Order: sequence, then structure tokens, then C-alpha cells
Amino acid sequence: SLFLSMAAPQKDVFKLGFVGAGNLAESITRGVVRSAVLPAASIRTTHHRADRRSLFASFGCRILETNAQVVEDSDVVIISVKPQIVRQVLTELKPFFTKDKLIVSIAAGIKMKDIKDWSGKSRIIRVMPNTPSAVGLAASVFCTGETATKKDEERVSKLFGAIGKVWTADEKYFDAITGLSGSGPAYIYLAIEALADGGVAAGLTRDLALGLASQTVLGAAAMVNQTGKHPGQLKDEVTSPAGTTIAGIRELEKGAFRASLINAVVAATDRCRELS
Ligand code: NAD
Repeated sequence: SLFLSMAAPQKDVFKLGFVGAGNLAESITRGVVRSAVLPAASIRTTHHRADRRSLFASFGCRILETNAQVVEDSDVVIISVKPQIVRQVLTELKPFFTKDKLIVSIAAGIKMKDIKDWSGKSRIIRVMPNTPSAVGLAASVFCTGETATKKDEERVSKLFGAIGKVWTADEKYFDAITGLSGSGPAYIYLAIEALADGGVAAGLTRDLALGLASQTVLGAAAMVNQTGKHPGQLKDEVTSPAGTTIAGIRELEKGAFRASLINAVVAATDRCRELS
């Protein structure tokens, strides 16, 4: 009808369930509700602890009694328990994963093949987010199981887009992704602490040094993200002949700064392969 064709485009509202109402489930819920990807009433979960139930209820989410009820009453189920209990949870919930439901696993190190074996389903999307999800600045990568649809991918892109940036990659890259974006925040925490130590060594107060260090890292990352310039070009633009910045860079190169970061990513990737 004319009325319908003139109405605003219909939003894709679907029912989202969390099995494991922990930190990441909380971050996703906050992001999804804040950015109006879904109304809070479309989100359901359960938890054995009353404080977790009240928290999710305070967002406007529906609180159910069991994981099975969460799965039964959801179109998209995010498995957000710790990796060690994913097997147990998926095995228990196997009868409730009907063909119309998408399983999304965020459990670090749990492969698509395992999720498929344990759930008996292949409509799966595996996502690797990272801890800056807590402040809406996650780097998330997902890969898609055989029978997941384009629409499933769009839904996952929107959900994880609400807590940061999203990429897709083949599952064979997930160990390297873990070594870079999964472990990467810790490398940068070290860098920020060390920059602040340098500031203190050069005479600044600890507070000022730490504030300047973290804001400088944030600013540099935003310059790379927002200007689209290559980081080498940005570096060249701030290093004047015989200036202060090139004197600092020269010291970093003496300490094998770049080789250290390269090797850190490769070592973490190797360790991830060993553990899987
Ligand atoms: P978390 O411990 O905060 O959350 C897990 C929650 O599940 C806890 O509240 C726990 O009480 C609950 N739980 C335990 N057993 C349960 C059961 N049988 N049924 C239902 N709930 C149960 O952990 P998190 O930081 O939210 O991480 C969740 C998953 O996400 C992990 O598998 C982790 O590898 C992955 N992950 C998290 C991040 C992140 O940014 N936090 C990044 C990458 C991957």
C-alpha cells in the first residue's frame, strides 16, 4: 500500500540471547542498546547470580530461568561463557538449537569445527573481539560457518559494530588475529606505562605523564584511522631535520622497538597455535 511504501524502512528487529551474562555480554548489550541496533526488550539472558540478573534487567532486558529458555526464545544466540565450559554448555543446549537459530561464539580459541561438533549445527558465526569492547572501541573479526546466511552476517556486523570496528577473515587467520588484536592491548599498556616512566624520568609528575602518554597513543591511533595516511608518512611529517623526534626514534631503533613488536605478535600467534 501507499502508506506502507511511504513508511520508514523497517528495522531488522530480532531476538538476541546471551548464554553467559558476563563482561562481554554486558558490553555488547550496552553498545547495542545505546546505538539502537536493538531495543533492550529484544535481548534475553539468565544468570545464577542475582546481581547479574538485576544488571541486565536494569537495561530493560528479559531475564529467563534457564539457558535452554534463552535459546528457545532467541533468533541469535551469543555463547559468551568462558572457553573451558563451551563444550558442556553447547552439548546441553544441543536439542534447543533448531535450524532457524544462529549460534554466535565469542569464546577465544574455540574452533568452528568444535562448535559444530558440540552443537550439531553449522549455522554458526565465530567472532574474536578484544577487551576495548568495554569502552566501545573493540577490534572484532568474524568468520562464517557453512549454513550461516548473508542476513546472519549482517546481524553480527551490526551487533559487533555497536562495540567497535568489525572485519571478516578466514578462520585460518584467527591465531594471528589473537596475536595482534587479542593480545595487542597489553603491548600498548606496556608502551603507555613506559612513556609515562620516561616523562617522570624527564621531570613530569606521574599524573601528568600518564595522562599525556595515553592521550598521545589515542591521538596517534586516531590519526592513522581518520586521515587514512600510512603511519610511515605520518612519522615523516613530524620528524624535522636534526630535531627532537628523530632523536627519540633513533633510540627506539637502537632498542629494536619495531622488531620487538613484530616478534611479540609472532610469538603470541605461535603460542595460540600451541594451545589450540
Ligand atoms: P565472564 O567470565 O565475564 O563471563 C562469563 C559468564 O558466564 C560469567 O558471568 C559466568 O558466571 C557465566 N557462566 C558460567 N557458567 C555458566 C553456565 N553454565 N551458563 C550460563 N552462564 C554461565 O567472561 P567474558 O570476559 O565476558 O568472556 C566471555 C567469553 O568471551 C570468553 O569465552 C572469552 O574468551 C571471550 N572473549 C572476551 C573478550 C572480552 O573483551 N571480554 C574478548 C575476546 C573473547
